[in-house]
Amino acid sequence: EKLDEGLEKSKQSFFDKLSRSVAGKSKVDDEVLDNLEEVLITSDVGVETTLKIIKRIEERVARDKYVGTDELNRILREEIAGLLSENNSDRTRGFEIPVKNEPYVIMVVGVNGVGKTTTIGKLAHQFKQNGKKVVLGAGDTFRAAAVDQLVIWAERVGVTIVKQAMGSDPASVAFDTLQSAKAQGADVVLIDTAGRLHNKVNLMNELSKIKRVMQKVYPDAPHEVLLVLDGSTGQNAFEQAKQFTQATEVSALAVTKLDGTAKGGVVIGISDQFQIPVKYIGVGEGMNDLQAFDKFEFVDSFFG
Ligand code: GDP
Repeated sequence: EKLDEGLEKSKQSFFDKLSRSVAGKSKVDDEVLDNLEEVLITSDVGVETTLKIIKRIEERVARDKYVGTDELNRILREEIAGLLSENNSDRTRGFEIPVKNEPYVIMVVGVNGVGKTTTIGKLAHQFKQNGKKVVLGAGDTFRAAAVDQLVIWAERVGVTIVKQAMGSDPASVAFDTLQSAKAQGADVVLIDTAGRLHNKVNLMNELSKIKRVMQKVYPDAPHEVLLVLDGSTGQNAFEQAKQFTQATEVSALAVTKLDGTAKGGVVIGISDQFQIPVKYIGVGEGMNDLQAFDKFEFVDSFFG
């Protein structure tokens, strides 16, 4: 299983730490809880979510009087599945594209380098496999490389792409893309955007402008704002989520590069802290290495 493989490092590191934290202990007591807190924090679950999990386990220990350390794995798993349930519906299967006369418009945001272009390419591939007509919009007009990469993905996957000259207005690209999607009778539109975070006001204005212009073509657009985060960057991903959620209304998350990192705990913390569903996770560089996030599979892969 790709997901199991992808999360192997996170899992290994988590379990090593966990078993060290309970070594020589048969009962969950304050010391074990303190150690567990550290394990969760160093696994990039994030402070707030860690404290929430510890509090829930404390309550359980207080209620049940005796909780053996051999039960800790099961309890943690239950609590984490519970947390993930609060903002990830029972079986998330990625985006559900409604059958309609107008396309489902997905605006993709995120900082450069997180895997935005790759995620758009992989998504286009998935939608196309499912029989959808897809149009891409190369809205990151500030980076020639971003447009070039997206063009390569469009060719590889076999979908249409709308682009303009470097430095042109991203909102204008978005407008053209929706016009083209309309003319072609597309089912899904994926719009790339520039991920410049250095100026929050600019980012906010730019994203609102893109939205406003798209709404001239389709008043309901965008149907999703997908924030792409690099799961291997731990706390940076938290910080980016904070910045982007302040700049625009983010409806879904994609967490990339979970293969080859021990920081998979970031998925748990980010989903909890921002109350936004994780819709996809990236587990490799290939076309098929994007998975619809399923909290049960995730917890199973993480806790083995
Ligand atoms: P962008 O600047 O955000 O558009 O980032 P790109 O899509 O160009 O990706 C940056 C690098 O990360 C590329 O080398 C991708 O192949 C790689 N990448 C993207 N997603 C994943 C993933 O899920 N796993 C791995 N291992 N690499 C990824």
